[in-house]
Amino acid sequence: MPNQTKKMSKPNGEIKCLVNTCHYYGSGDHCFADKIEVQSPNASTTEMTDCMTFLPE
Ligand code: SF4
Repeated sequence: MPNQTKKMSKPNGEIKCLVNTCHYYGSGDHCFADKIEVQSPNASTTEMTDCMTFLPE
């Protein structure tokens, strides 16, 4: 599956994430996903955006 998100061996250094129940989360508030998708279009507040790549542990 070419579009499947991979969990990397190193953190994605430009992403800070506090969702410590995510499969891709690592200590230090790091995300180890090789890519993430954030939704949704036409959001007008911070609260209206979320990470769609989130996967429960
Ligand atoms: S995939 Fe999304 S929710 Fe999961 S650690 Fe990365 S940024 Fe956070």
